[in-house]
Amino acid sequence: MRILIIGAGPTGLGAAYRLQELGHDDFAVLESAPHAGGLAASYVDDAGFTWDVGGHVMFSHYEYYDKLFEEMMGDQFTLNDRESWVRMMDRWVPYPFQNNVRHLPKEATYECLQGLIHAQLVRKKDPLDAENFGEFIDLVFGEGIAKHFMRPYNFKVWAYPPEMMNKTWIGERVAVLDADRALKNVVLEQDDFGWGPNNRFKYPLKGGTGAFYSRIAQSLEGKIRYGSTVTGIDAERKIVRLADGTEEPYDALISAMPIDILVNDVVDDAPQGVRENAAGLLHSAGHMVGIGLKRKCPSTKCWMYFPDDNCPFYRVTYLSNYSPYMTPNQTGENDTHYSLLCETSESSHKPVNNDTIIEDTIQGLENAGLLEPGERDDIVSTWSKRVEYSYPTPSVERDNLLSAVVPWLEDRGIYSRGRFGMWKYEVANTDHTLMQGVECVNRLLLGEPETTIGIVYRTTDDGREAADHERSVVAGSGEKRLNVEISARKPAETR
Ligand SMILES: Cc1cc2nc3c(=O)[nH]c(=O)nc-3n(C[C@H](O)[C@H](O)[C@H](O)COP(=O)(O)OP(=O)(O)OC[C@H]3O[C@@H](n4cnc5c(N)ncnc54)[C@H](O)[C@@H]3O)c2cc1C
Repeated sequence: MRILIIGAGPTGLGAAYRLQELGHDDFAVLESAPHAGGLAASYVDDAGFTWDVGGHVMFSHYEYYDKLFEEMMGDQFTLNDRESWVRMMDRWVPYPFQNNVRHLPKEATYECLQGLIHAQLVRKKDPLDAENFGEFIDLVFGEGIAKHFMRPYNFKVWAYPPEMMNKTWIGERVAVLDADRALKNVVLEQDDFGWGPNNRFKYPLKGGTGAFYSRIAQSLEGKIRYGSTVTGIDAERKIVRLADGTEEPYDALISAMPIDILVNDVVDDAPQGVRENAAGLLHSAGHMVGIGLKRKCPSTKCWMYFPDDNCPFYRVTYLSNYSPYMTPNQTGENDTHYSLLCETSESSHKPVNNDTIIEDTIQGLENAGLLEPGERDDIVSTWSKRVEYSYPTPSVERDNLLSAVVPWLEDRGIYSRGRFGMWKYEVANTDHTLMQGVECVNRLLLGEPETTIGIVYRTTDDGREAADHERSVVAGSGEKRLNVEISARKPAETR
C-alpha cells in the first residue's frame, strides 16, 4: 500500500513515524513549508529569541506520545509547574477564574456568587441540554461570571459569539464548579488553583516546542519532501498533483491540511453539497506577537488570560520561563532577558489591524500592567506571525457539516486528520493530532479502531469500529497542584 501524507506537522509526523516503526517503507510526506512542525514549529528571530506559534503547553493523554517525547528529547527538557492567571480589573486572579472570584472587587465577587447560586437554584434547563455555548455559560455559571469573565474572554479567544458555538468541545477545558465550593473559597479566603490535566508540563530545553517535531522529522530520513505543495487530487485515479507539475500515485492518503481547502480547492469534482458543508466550517486566524526584553524576568508566571478590552490579546505567555534557552542569553541562567508571547484572534466578527498589531500589543501590555512605564525602552526585539488557521471553531453546525464531509473523503481513500483536518478543537492539541496520525496508520495497516477522532461518523458504523473518545461533558475542578510552594504564594507577591 503506497501511503502519501500531506503535511509534516504533528499529525503527518505521527503517521510517518508510525509507518517507519511498523517497517512500512512505501510512503512519503509532502510538506509545502521548508521545515517540519506546522503550527507546532518554532522560530528564532534575528535577536536570538525563540518563538512558538502561540504558547504551547505539552500535556499528553497518551503513553505512546510520552515515550516518543522521551526517545526524541532524552533529558533535554524542562519540567514546569503550571502557573496561570487572569488579569482583569487591574488585579491578578488565579486561574481558574470561577474558583477564585474572591480576588475581584467586592461588588463583582458578589455578582459572581449571586449569579452562580441563582443559576443553580433556579435551573431553567439542564446545562447539558443547552443549545449553544452561550446558553451553557449562562446556565452553569450565572450572570455575574458570564458578564465579568466567560463571555468577554471567550469572545476574545474564539472571535465568534458563544451563541455560534456548540458546547460539546468543553470537556476538560472549562472547569465547572459547584456553588458550595465557590462560596467556601470566598468565605474562607482560599485560593483554588488545581484542576484539569495540565498542571505540570514538559518543554524542550532548546529550540522551543518545535524542537520535538524537528527531531521526529530528522528520524524520518529522506521521507519528507519539503517545498512540495499539493494543489490537486484526482480521487478516482488516486493521484496527487503538486505545484511543480509532478504527480504522485497513492493507495491511501492521510491529509492534515485544512479540510475546507482540501475539499473545495484541491480534490477534483467534489459534489456541491460536500463542498458547501466544508465551506460552512468556521475558523479564526491568530496574530502571534513576541516581545523580547533585555531585563530580568519580573515574574514566575507561565501564561495569563485577558478578558478586558484594554488590550487586544486573549493570552500572554512568559515564554522565557519555560526554558532558560528561549532568549539570546544561552548560558542557562535566565537573568538578563525575558520574552512575552501575545496571542490575538481574528475573524469576520472580530477584525484586527495587521499593520498596527505590534504597537497595539505593546500598548496593551502597558495598559494591562505587564510592562511598567519605561520598560518599553528595554524591548530589544519584536516578532510577529499571522496564521490564517489558528483555532478550529466548534460551531453549532460543525459536527453535522463534518459528518457529510469526512465519510465522503474516506470512501475515496482520503483520511483527513489533525487540527484542521478533523476540525475538532477538543482533540486538536499536539498530543491528539500526533496520535490521530499514529492511529490512522494503525487502522490502515493493522485494522485497529481509531480512538481519538471521537465522532462516530456514519461510515464507521459499518464494522470499522471507530471507538468513542469518552470525555466527560462537564469537567470537575479536579487534581491538586503538584507544586505546593507556588500554590502557597499570594497573588500580590508576583506580577
Ligand atoms: C495559537 C495556538 C496555540 C496552541 N496551543 C497548544 C498547546 O498549548 N498545546 C498543544 O499541545 N497544542 C497546541 N496547539 C495545537 C498544535 O499546534 C496543533 O495540534 C498541531 O500543530 C496540529 O498539527 P497538524 O499536523 O494537525 O496541523 P498543522 O500543524 O497545521 O500542520 C499541517 C501541515 O500541513 C502543511 N500543508 C498545508 N497545506 C498543504 C498542502 N497543500 N501541501 C503540502 N503541505 C501542506 C502545512 O504547511 C503544515 O506544516 C496550539 C495551536 C495554536 C495555533
